Amino acid sequence: MTSHTPVSDELFDRARSLMPGGVNSPVRAFGSVGGTPKFMVSAQGPYLTDADGREYVDLVCSWGPALLGHAHPAVLKAVHAAVDRGLSFGASTPDEANLAAIVKERVPVVERIRMVSTGTEATMTAVRLARGFTDRNLIVKFAGCYHGHLDGLLAAAGSGLATMALPGSAGVTAAAAAETLVLPYNDLAAVEAAFAVHGNNIAAVITEAAPANMGVVTPNEGFNEGLSRITREHGALLILDEVLTGFRTGYAGYWGLTGRQEGWAPDLLTFGKVIGGGMPTAALGGRADVMDYLAPLGPVYQAGTLSGNPVAMAAGVATLTLATPEVYSYVDARSLELSAALSSALDTAGVDHSIQRAGNLFSVAFGTSANGVHNYADAQAQDVFRYAPFFHSMLDSGVYLPPSVFEAWFLSAAHDDAAMNRIFDALPAAAKAAAE
Ligand code: PLP
Repeated sequence: MTSHTPVSDELFDRARSLMPGGVNSPVRAFGSVGGTPKFMVSAQGPYLTDADGREYVDLVCSWGPALLGHAHPAVLKAVHAAVDRGLSFGASTPDEANLAAIVKERVPVVERIRMVSTGTEATMTAVRLARGFTDRNLIVKFAGCYHGHLDGLLAAAGSGLATMALPGSAGVTAAAAAETLVLPYNDLAAVEAAFAVHGNNIAAVITEAAPANMGVVTPNEGFNEGLSRITREHGALLILDEVLTGFRTGYAGYWGLTGRQEGWAPDLLTFGKVIGGGMPTAALGGRADVMDYLAPLGPVYQAGTLSGNPVAMAAGVATLTLATPEVYSYVDARSLELSAALSSALDTAGVDHSIQRAGNLFSVAFGTSANGVHNYADAQAQDVFRYAPFFHSMLDSGVYLPPSVFEAWFLSAAHDDAAMNRIFDALPAAAKAAAE
């Protein structure tokens, strides 16, 4: 088990007496890997430092936002300048339109955009908007895709629920669940069949642009395009959830890597994580006629006290301005390098596995080399027990991985040779631990 970190132990004891499970987001509790979560006190470039003064190479990157690495000087400068002007005005500010214009330039299918504060809020609003626009009730989602913790989308939702082996959440009414059709991922025939029966009442299909919350799963060639075609044929909308992939897998997100070339467009997209550069901002955007259904122009209500917060907007503008095509090439290359080293260490230790990849996102799945992972059933059938010893060996060696096998590994533009070498050095022992 992990090296002793007495200050984190003490902080966790205190946190548990004050907060459910001692955390504000479940996966942080290390539930599926065991041991005491490390309490972090600072972050710089590719490194995190915990309350005991131990430094880790970070492969979580705040679950995605830290594309440039932590505390990038230009982002901090923009944030400091914004803070000096005031924290929140409750009125429109110039940077909201600046960030919107950047998003629109990068992802031209976004004709209008609305800023919100979390990815959950973005998908929740997208779902309400789709229902309002189509005047239909049903939403199709895929098992293993996570879209945030809105009631109707918590069934078979991957991520923290997969980590905790929960099928869904208590507190979601049967009525809310009944308005969600959950289908197997990568199965267009199942989508066709659902539309054949319920086509007149399906408001939208929502899908992660590439799933990364059941581990990473590559969409089959033509899958997203097929969703676009089927929804269009039936007068439903396609909501492409790019909260995790957007501005991380490429300059124009995962759609930019695939849909743009294939010539299809989602009706709505959701963004989060990188768009706020580490500050609480997310967004939804898409077709102007659909987006204009939002209040104040349209009948679908949505609002937020802190929406478009000026400090968060400054962080987003600075981050996206620095996230050039070169940044993505760099992160792509590092990702290939790391997944190859990981695979080779596991091969040497005789651990059966597959590397699951979508753009620069990847994860490892144990015991899956024969067929890989294409859907949630495949993801759940893997040798989950191998991850905890692997994780703790890496942590002991100073590498901070996601504390769940069902999450992607995140790299950044700040992962230089020194950081990468520390990860490479840690892999053989961790692979051996996974083999036992
Ligand atoms: N959608 C996807 C694809 C996500 O990965 C997440 C979070 O991980 C969300 C939505 C929810 O975002 P948030 O945690 O900001 O509410």
